[in-house]
Parts: sequence; structure tokens; C-alpha cells
Amino acid sequence: MSLGYNIDFAVAGVLISIVLLVYSFSTRGTTSSDKRFRWIVVCSLMANSLDALTTVTIAYQKFVPLGINYLLNSLLFLSESMIFYFFVSYVGKFVEEERGQSLKGQVHLLYLIVLYVMVLIVNVSQGMIFSITDEAGYQHGILYFVVMILPVYYACFTLYLFFRYKGMLKRDHWITIVVFYIAVLIGTVIQMLILPQYLLLTFATSIGLIPVYVTMETPDYRALVEANKQLEKEKAKANSANEAKTDFLANMSHEIRTPINAVLGMNEMILRESKDNSINYYSGKIKSAGQTLLSLINDILDISKVEAGKMELYESEYELKQLINDSFDMVNEAMQEKGLKFELEVSNDLPSTLFGDEVHIRQILVNILNNAVKYTKRGYIRMKVIGEMKDDMINISFAIKDTGIGIKREEQKEIFEKFSRAELEKNINIAGTGLGLNLSINLAHLMNGDISVKSLYRVGTMFTFTVPQVIKNRNPIGNVDVGTVVAGEGSNYKNKIYAPTAKILVVDDVENNLSVIKLLLKQTGIQVDTALSGARGIDLCMKTKYDVILMDHMMPEMNGIDTLKSMQMIPNFLNADTPVIMLTANAVTGVREQYLREGFVDYLSKPVKGSLLEDTLIKYISKEKQE
Ligand code: ADP
Repeated sequence: MSLGYNIDFAVAGVLISIVLLVYSFSTRGTTSSDKRFRWIVVCSLMANSLDALTTVTIAYQKFVPLGINYLLNSLLFLSESMIFYFFVSYVGKFVEEERGQSLKGQVHLLYLIVLYVMVLIVNVSQGMIFSITDEAGYQHGILYFVVMILPVYYACFTLYLFFRYKGMLKRDHWITIVVFYIAVLIGTVIQMLILPQYLLLTFATSIGLIPVYVTMETPDYRALVEANKQLEKEKAKANSANEAKTDFLANMSHEIRTPINAVLGMNEMILRESKDNSINYYSGKIKSAGQTLLSLINDILDISKVEAGKMELYESEYELKQLINDSFDMVNEAMQEKGLKFELEVSNDLPSTLFGDEVHIRQILVNILNNAVKYTKRGYIRMKVIGEMKDDMINISFAIKDTGIGIKREEQKEIFEKFSRAELEKNINIAGTGLGLNLSINLAHLMNGDISVKSLYRVGTMFTFTVPQVIKNRNPIGNVDVGTVVAGEGSNYKNKIYAPTAKILVVDDVENNLSVIKLLLKQTGIQVDTALSGARGIDLCMKTKYDVILMDHMMPEMNGIDTLKSMQMIPNFLNADTPVIMLTANAVTGVREQYLREGFVDYLSKPVKGSLLEDTLIKYISKEKQE
């Protein structure tokens, strides 16, 4: 007696399923998607075995009780549907894993299976789906298509998940899902239309499971997924630790900057008022030590900002000449003390006005210049500024060369690393943290620039900092000579503004800070009212019209922002149009924009530099009041 169908493919499907099952068990994946994959393979094994088995039992139905034949055929349909059920939930698990949230609505899929079993039981008496008779053997009933409903429904559900969450699924996931369904589709079409006597449908499902296993279930892949998950966790941990560090640094910097503000401010007054040379000498020392301390705090704060990806660029228009002068000014004193010569060579066709982040460029230049001074005992420091113009951009480059101790070739790369210092033992007497160059190169990269170093050990070093900037004014810069450097503050102090009729209010909860501002503005003639709290500030503002209000941020009871908000709520407020400037030691990135959004017109960071304070007041006090 011959079999009704060729069972070769079904037998091959059994073998493939067994191999997949053995491999899948040997990897011992424990996630819920692993378990679901195994269920799919088990169902595929069952479907292929039953496909082959029922072909035989129907051919030999004389020897097989009819009930057993019905049962086996029903189980075949059931296992085929279960393959697709587990496949949807397998895909669903991946979506859940990516989403970190469970997908509702999967339970109803299981209810359908229960319903389906009932339909198959009813079928035994009705024969509407399939029947097995002595004469004709196995035959499809008029409702045969019912057996297709469940797989098609599950396939549609997978399709729905696929499109809804495609963005969340990894590329190899969705490709294998598609490949699986294409394999099934090809198997179904060939069996139905071309080779009806071959059992290809169940075989096709086991073939479709091979790429699924290879891409998503191999030990390597699972290990990779696990490692990635672990990595994500560690990254989140590290990020939160880093955020905590940044917050801590921001708070510390605020706490440290406030007393430095008082020290530097008071010291500035000594420098301005004392005529005694030795006092001025001591005071000068306090100033430079204070500034070093401040720049150290700023460096630490900036490094953590760069690391947290929170460093922002403040771009504005600036005069190139001023930038060069200011940078030189910052190191001039130290250079003179060491008796070093300074040579400046600026190509005089460079454009006079540029647009970019002047503050950070200056920070980099001062850093490199400072190092040149620190690491040079005798000789000279030469700064050469050149530029390459293209359209409205200029690639400007500052080469700073010294005749100092030099850096060994093997150490030249390392010095850009954080906390890295060359020849530590030898340079132990030279103060430094190893942060400056790391910060500088990070800042340079942020501005699409770079820093390179050339050095000959014991002969000298040349750092070249290059950065692209926008040209704002093409007028040539002309001769730049550091002899014409604008005098710094201190004993050469000369006020830039004189406005005795102008009146300003300073609100700060620290008395020292109020006195510092008052003293800094002594020679400007500006009348300064002070308030030790936000509430007191509002009181004063109800009675007097001010030209400018300087407001501290962190004050007990009512902080600076709340004080400004309260002022804005007062109807017909006398100082409704008075510019309010935020004055704070909170020097974290983004605060400037935050303050401007809150309604402040400008932002000054503490410790306030006298000249910057005056520059700001010049901007906001009406010209008629300035003499
Ligand atoms: P530091 O605070 O130690 O100066 P930097 O990051 O600014 O930190 O510099 C890193 C190291 O690079 C320094 O410790 C020093 O060894 C080396 N270095 C930097 N500039 C020079 C220079 N002009 N001459 C010699 N060595 C230098």
C-alpha cells in the first residue's frame, strides 16, 4: 500500500528540529525569549513528526483506531498553530526586553488556542474541517480554511508588533523575523500550488527557524546581548556617579568661589588704595595666588563639565587684538619675574574682528602660555599668530614656543591625558595638576580645532593651537605690539565709567560681597544701595528707581530668581523696566541661558572682576548719566 503523501520533507523537518533543540538546550539560555524559542522548536518537531506520522496512520487506517487518527490529525493542526503562537510571543519578548515594559494583550492569543481545541473536538462528529473515512481516507471538509485562521491571525499579530515597534527591534531581529515568514510563505505556496503531495509547510517552519537560531540564539549572540545589557547597566551607574560628581563640584565651586570673591575683592581695594610699595608687593602676591586658586577650581569644574558632555560654547564677536593682549596680560607678571623675554609676531593682514568662543580660546592660550612660563627657566617665549582665510572663515593658529625644559618624545602624547605630567620627579617643584592640557585639547576639539606639540628635550617646546573662526570684519589687524597692552587692574587702575547720578541696587545675603561691589565701584561715583535679602531688595525697589539691579542667586528664604519673579508680579512697579543682572558664584554650564530665560538681562560670575563689572554697567546705565 502506498502513502498518500511523500514524507521525506517532514522527516527532514524532524531532524532539523531535533538538531536545533539539542543546540538550543546546550546553550542553556535562561531568558524568557530563550524559553519561547525552545517551545517553537518543540512545536515544530511535533508538527513535522505528526505530519509524517498521520500520513502513515491514515494509509494504514485499517490497523489504527479511528479515534487515534482524529486525535493525531487534530494534534497536528494544533502544533502548527502553536508554532505561530510561540513565534508571536517570542517576537513580543524582544520588544518587551527593548521597551523594558510588558506588552499587554498577549493573553488573548492563548485563549484562541483553547477555542481552537474545542473546534477540533466538535469536528470529530461533524467532519466540517477534515474527516477520515474507510473509503476515502483523509479528506478536507468545507471549513478546512478554519485551520489557517489561527496561523494567519498570529502572523498578522507579529506583523503588527513588527511595524509598531520596528524602531525598537534591532536590525538582525527584524530581518530574521521577515526571513522566517518568507520561508513559511514559500513552503505553503509550493505545497498548495505546485507540489501538493509533499509535506512542505511544516518543513518550511523548521527551515525558517535556522536563521532565527543562528542570529538570535547562538551562545555568542546571547553572550553579546548579556554583555551589552551589563554594559548598559554599568554605563547608567557610571553616568549617575558622574552626575553626582558634577553636582558636587558645582556646589563646591560655589562654596569656594564665594570666599575667594571676598579675598580678591578686598585685596583689589588694597592694591588700588595703598601707596606703600611693600604692602602692594604682598597684595600682588595675594592676587596672583588667589587667581591661581580660582583658575584651578575653574579647571576642575570645566573638566567635569566636558566629561559630562555639558560644556557649551559661548560664541560672540570679539577683537583679535584684545584677545592676544588679554592672554599675554595674564602671564606677563610671571614672565617678568622670571626674566623671560616675550616675542610676539602677528601677521598684520589678519582680520580685526572674529566670531567664536573667545572665552575658551583665551583659556587655552593662557594655559599654553602659562605652561611655557612655568617650564622655562631662561630664554624667551615666542608667540606667532597666523591665519588661513577661506570665504568668511579663518583657520587661525597660535604657535607658542619656549626655550624651556622640553618634553621627551615618548611623553609628548601622554601630556594631553588627564592628570598626566611629564617627568614627575623632576618637575615636582613646579606647581601643576596635569589638568590644563587635557582641558585645553578637549575645548579645542569642541571648537573643531586642535593642539599639537613639537619638542626637543632640554631645548624647548612649541605648542600650536589651531581653530576655525568666522570673520566678522576683514579690516587688517595691523601692528600688534604687547607694549601697547591695556593696563591690568591693580595699582594702575583707572575707572572706565564715571556716573555719579546713576544709582544701582545690589542684593546679596553675604555682607562681604556687598562691600566688595561697593568698593570696586568706589571711583566710578555710582551710588550703590545694598540689600541683604530678596525681601529687603523689593522694599527698596518700591521707593527708589534704580538704573541697574545686581542680584545674587542663592539666598536663604527667597532666592534671586524668586525675588525677580515677585518683582514682576507687582502692579505699576517702579523698577519694572530696570535691567536686573544675575550675580552668582554658580558657574556651571547652561546657567547663563537659564538666567536669561528667567528674565535677567545679563549674568556676572563671582568673583567679579572690577573691569568686567564696569564694562557691564557701561552697557546698562543710560549714556546721559555717564560722564
Ligand atoms: P600641569 O598643571 O602639570 O602644567 P598640563 O596639563 O598643563 O598640567 O601639562 C601637562 C604636562 O605637560 C606638564 O606637567 C609638563 O610635564 C608638560 N608640559 C606642558 N607644557 C610644557 C612646556 N611648555 N614645556 C615642557 N613641558 C610642558
